[in-house]
Amino acid sequence: MIKAKLVDVELIERLAQLTSGAGDYCYQCGTCTGVCPFNLLNPETINPRKIVRSAQLGLIYEDGNLWYCSTCGLCEAKCPWSVKIPEVVRGYRQLATEKRKLPQKFEELLWMIYEDGTAFPGSSVERTAWTEGLKIKDASKQKVQVLLYVGCAVSFDKRLQKIARSLANILSIAEVDFGILGKEERCCGDVVYNVGEDAFLEELASQNIERFNKTGAETIITISPHSAHMFKKVYPRYGLRIPALHYIEFLHDLIEKERIKVDKPVEGEVTVHDPCYLGRYLKIYEEPRKILSSIPGLEIIEMDEAKENAVCCGSGGGRHFLDIHGDRLSHYRVMQAVQTGAKTVVAPCPFCIQNFEDSVKTKKLSLNIKDVVELVDQSLSGSA
Ligand code: SF4
Ligand code: SF4
Repeated sequence: MIKAKLVDVELIERLAQLTSGAGDYCYQCGTCTGVCPFNLLNPETINPRKIVRSAQLGLIYEDGNLWYCSTCGLCEAKCPWSVKIPEVVRGYRQLATEKRKLPQKFEELLWMIYEDGTAFPGSSVERTAWTEGLKIKDASKQKVQVLLYVGCAVSFDKRLQKIARSLANILSIAEVDFGILGKEERCCGDVVYNVGEDAFLEELASQNIERFNKTGAETIITISPHSAHMFKKVYPRYGLRIPALHYIEFLHDLIEKERIKVDKPVEGEVTVHDPCYLGRYLKIYEEPRKILSSIPGLEIIEMDEAKENAVCCGSGGGRHFLDIHGDRLSHYRVMQAVQTGAKTVVAPCPFCIQNFEDSVKTKKLSLNIKDVVELVDQSLSGSA
């Protein structure tokens, strides 16, 4: 006798609530699975069509590939019904995390963030190491108009610290009244959000909001698009009322209002990588290009897959912290950059920069990796 599987109405309702009914309109065309960039490397690594179908049918989905998804959003951008597939992935992750069925690595990261305030090795004291020799206000002690949220990756990584120094230099030239939280700064919770540990996220976000409010800041600017996404789209549900911007938006405004003049040439051809959380999540595509176009001598050559079609570097959704073996998406992306003939790929995201630099070394490529802010700083200072 064939036994019919009963529909789990409770699970359907729970998933609909967790994902705001994101999967309702899916008609199973399979486009999402076809375009998922991880399937370019290894066929059928991730099956977003099946994930969405499982949500529609109220089926438990605990396949390990749930955790490979970088939440890049390319599938959503290509879906004929714009189904918010990453929301469905996060919904299932939340259910798995509630049952502690998450990868051990993420369990460890959550504990690190809980105990040390960061998922990166380093103590809160080292958060200010990059400021050596710079005069930057401590926003935990003095009022500031603009709070620069530096973020964990940039605070603790020597290469990425250069980005923070460039941005601080530009803000000083523009006479912006800004400061940092220094050793009081804590993780923005991007990983916590993407792992689906919502109770902890609420606690972390509430504590961060309290710190932000005490600074008196009227604006928060971030270096990472992941933090910008958290403060713009996620923190408001926990009470954040201070407007947050990615630094690209702030810099664009400084140039538009002629508070800085990028008039010294930086010769060369560059290609622009659109980080997923800056592009598909925050729709910031034109500003980086306008900033770069304002620098004399720079020429932009676009990659075949640019803007909303850009291929992910492979780091979002918490994947940055997983051990990845074999071919990587960042290898694929730097090869696309090389094909343009440009000598530099510009990526305004710390995770993308780390990944691309690793790929350039692994593949022994002659390609520079820069953040937009570094080229602006170069133009302002006139350094070669
Ligand atoms: S592309 Fe959209 S409609 Fe097609 S299977 Fe995927 S989620 Fe469903
Ligand atoms: S969000 Fe990106 S990685 Fe995840 S299923 Fe969609 S295309 Fe694949």
